[in-house]
Amino acid sequence: MDWKDKKVAVLGLARSGLAAAQKLKEIGAVPFLSDIRSKEELRNIFPLIQDFVYETDGHTERVLKNELIIVSPGVPLEIPILRKACIKEIPIWSELELGFQLVKDTSSKIIAITGSNGKSTTTSLIYHILKESGKKALLAGNIGLPFTSFPIEKGEYDYIVLEVSSFQLDGISQFCPDIALLLNITPDHLNRYHTFDAYRNSKLRIFKNQTDEDIALLNFDDEECKCLLDFGLSQKIFYSVFEKVNENVWFYNDQIVINSGDSKLSLDSREILIRGLHNISNAVASSLVGILCGLKPDQIFAALKNFKGLEHRLEWVAEIDGRVFINDSKATNCVSVEKALASFDKPINIIMGGSDKNEDFSSLIPLIQQNVRNLIVLGETKSQIVDTFKECVTINEVSDLKEAVHRAYEISNSGEYILLSPGCASYDMYDNFEERGKHFKQLVDEIKK
Ligand code: ADP
Repeated sequence: MDWKDKKVAVLGLARSGLAAAQKLKEIGAVPFLSDIRSKEELRNIFPLIQDFVYETDGHTERVLKNELIIVSPGVPLEIPILRKACIKEIPIWSELELGFQLVKDTSSKIIAITGSNGKSTTTSLIYHILKESGKKALLAGNIGLPFTSFPIEKGEYDYIVLEVSSFQLDGISQFCPDIALLLNITPDHLNRYHTFDAYRNSKLRIFKNQTDEDIALLNFDDEECKCLLDFGLSQKIFYSVFEKVNENVWFYNDQIVINSGDSKLSLDSREILIRGLHNISNAVASSLVGILCGLKPDQIFAALKNFKGLEHRLEWVAEIDGRVFINDSKATNCVSVEKALASFDKPINIIMGGSDKNEDFSSLIPLIQQNVRNLIVLGETKSQIVDTFKECVTINEVSDLKEAVHRAYEISNSGEYILLSPGCASYDMYDNFEERGKHFKQLVDEIKK
């Protein structure tokens, strides 16, 4: 595509919007920036946009004077200005598509990871395996820095490992990863998609442009992924932690086994630092990507053994008076709470609640009954959670995280876990899950002192 003097509107000036604007300028296009926030609300990013032509306080008809529109993931595609753009047949892309257009003619291979849960962990693990094995790899997308904030058009990377969200996939046109990994599809973001079908269709767009030269990796243990053998044109490879469904990587008798053809090795899963069967599944998927990238089993195992996991995902925080504090602030839906509850063998005192994502918590009833001694609830979803679990566990209602941590400490016993795994987003009290997790760790630190 010839970008010289191409007029492109960028809607939404958060991280990926700003990265796209900067990249467009670098490649000779003429970006026009538009945001619904006021100048006052945008004051923190003012130094970054002052050299661009921009509008604030809403998207006006000026947007429609452009040949292409890049939308940030937070901008809903149904807003009036985008409807009008559709009628005028102006292409609407996500920043992911822009990045792809810049990479597609280079020799860099794209590995894209999506799913409802486990994206960040698996994307980081794949990147870690490639880097540790000496490959020139880039980690970008929904994790770390935006795709277009790197010199991707120069083709310097062997592999670009991208975490992609359904919102970004909604805005693709030709995006076609060489390897697309779908971890699972379970209800999430129903406040934006309204139906599970709409959400699933959005996730499946990762395979939309793949051909028979591309590979789709699918989790055989997930009901939605399992039935995708005939979906799209790509070569399908399944993986599982319960049965051997491919010839290269499987899990048996607590061992991860890798067979690359010329060498076969196994690793005791207790040697990897990230815990829970869901993380073994992530490790199996990542190992399979390693094999597809030509790595040897010993290279993959060496990297698996020193991967420490990510902050805010089942993160060990401290042990105080025999109580182990775990920060799982990233657990913003029921499935991730379920995985957390299944990862510990001792009684759990769980802190739940936050902002509402239209989740139905009732799927957690059996595990709450089985593994939880106390449930401490806070936030916007408090009454919903209380209604769901009032018959099956002792509930403590609190007004904020400080009270929650102190209460959990008081009512728990030595030898138990105190787990922050909210099952909800954080926006009712925090800017994001990271801030919530950091606050939790700070509160635990105060107790320690
Ligand atoms: P995402 O980026 O998709 O939100 P993360 O890697 O940040 O995923 O993990 C978020 C939460 O999902 C964690 O709290 C973890 O307990 C849970 N999780 C991680 N991997 C999986 C998986 N493969 N299946 C289900 N849940 C998972």
